Amino acid sequence: GRKSTLSTESNVLSSVYDDIPISNDTLCDFVWQRMDRWPDKTATVCSVTGRGYTYAQLHRISMVFGASLRSKLKLREDDKVAIILPNVPEYPCIVMGALQAGCVVSPMNPLYTAEELKRQLELIDCKLVVSSKISYPNIAQALQSLKSKIPVILIDNEGLPEGTIKFADFAEDVNADTNCLKSVKRSPDDVAVIPFSSGTSGFPKGVVLTHRSMVASSVMISSPEIMAIVETTATRQSVFAAVIPFFHIFGFNILMLSQLYLGCKLVTLPHFKPDLFLQTIAKYKSDILFMVPPIAVFLARHPAVTPAHLQSVRSIICGAAPLSPADADAIVAKNNNIYFRQGYGLTETCGSFSVARKTDRNHASVGYVLSNCQAKIADMETHQALGPGKEGELWVRGPNVMSGYYKNEEATKSDFTDDGWYKTGDIAKYDENNYLYVTDRLKELIKVKGYQVPPAELETVIRTHPKVADCAVLGVKDPATGEAPKAFFVPQPGQSLTPEELMAFVNSKVTSYKQIKQAQIVDEIPKNPGGKILKRVLKEKYC
Ligand code: AMP
Repeated sequence: GRKSTLSTESNVLSSVYDDIPISNDTLCDFVWQRMDRWPDKTATVCSVTGRGYTYAQLHRISMVFGASLRSKLKLREDDKVAIILPNVPEYPCIVMGALQAGCVVSPMNPLYTAEELKRQLELIDCKLVVSSKISYPNIAQALQSLKSKIPVILIDNEGLPEGTIKFADFAEDVNADTNCLKSVKRSPDDVAVIPFSSGTSGFPKGVVLTHRSMVASSVMISSPEIMAIVETTATRQSVFAAVIPFFHIFGFNILMLSQLYLGCKLVTLPHFKPDLFLQTIAKYKSDILFMVPPIAVFLARHPAVTPAHLQSVRSIICGAAPLSPADADAIVAKNNNIYFRQGYGLTETCGSFSVARKTDRNHASVGYVLSNCQAKIADMETHQALGPGKEGELWVRGPNVMSGYYKNEEATKSDFTDDGWYKTGDIAKYDENNYLYVTDRLKELIKVKGYQVPPAELETVIRTHPKVADCAVLGVKDPATGEAPKAFFVPQPGQSLTPEELMAFVNSKVTSYKQIKQAQIVDEIPKNPGGKILKRVLKEKYC
């Protein structure tokens, strides 16, 4: 039963997949609803320590943790909880516990600097931080400069800094009364998650995702036409080497929550290390992998990666940044049983938007628009919807699209059209067979290893240097990371500042993947009469 992809509006691309009804469940009810079929299967396990939890344990810990947040910390509906952790097996219990308590979860990068954390914690008026000892010094510094006294829970068992709360004391409390969670009032249109994205311009903004949009995204991506998951039974279970970070929407929703809903085993990797990744795939016989382009490039090109390493793998989905189809070809050449697909999505669409069927071999496309969604290729000048083969800005619509940017009406208004299309800032086209291709990026955003690097953030840091008169940051191609930030700057008249000095200054203030890889002195930064930096002109002149 395929349905026609012709819409009543001309040149609007609909899904080749059948529409799916979206339930009125909250995200917690949605994720746990099938759990009774596999209570004793492993849900999460750490690739480094072997520490893990079954579905029944994960559920129990989530409920106890949620009850503790209500009874001990008096957290209430809509209170914001920042989760600042690498991929650890406890991650989903913390998310689900906080949601169960009625709170809103905001995932953040555990390697962020104090400055980076401060901005985000302040914006959401954070009421609780859950993290680990590694990030604590930066969190403490951020909270101190905000003059905030909110509680901090750490997942470590030993050597906790004074004043912090031990996760286990909350999560393993045998006296906890989970009945208090029954009175929590959450409806599907309440906010569930606020991750961060810079969108089409400027600084990172809080992306408002409701329970309904997160559930819709999960349901759409979990379709049996798309996910090559073996059904979980007493003897079989699909296994993910869970390497993409849970603090990014791709890891948070498409990997963690959607795959727990499907009953998979998530083997968590706290970081990407080539040896650990290959050993994890082999040891746990991982059959499904989600990855970002640098990992795909590693699997494709590194001579140490042999067919034996990929023996168990059947399905790979790669997203978050562009990948050359030649690299996908090279992976499949190492194991012809692998179906490799690119997927496309944004934080603003709960991580999902397009992917092909599970047995598809089109390595260049980002697949088909998901069920319940629509796309339009808008002509850059006229905004008219273009037909097949023509490039324009990709506009999207669907139940997975965000409600807006948190406390930022201006950015929300400028990124949506009046009739409700979200303007992605990506350049794309589709072909006669409804395959979508992302060909370029219109927005300023730089993507390093799939992570967002907003140029505006780096430009603001550069401008704080007393010897800088003006500056601009662009993304340039980088073989190892996809793109890398390059700075152009004009020194103050009569001052000398070398590119190396500038880089050292900036790179001490930002997290590692945001670091500037090249800097160049220029006579002036090209701008339009309104003072907006002309990035295309800069690129054509110097790159
Ligand atoms: P994020 O919100 O961090 O997921 O970033 C979303 C952006 O990542 C998109 O707007 C694209 O620019 C880029 N992106 C995601 N997936 C792909 C893909 N498969 N190919 C090219 N770019 C992608």
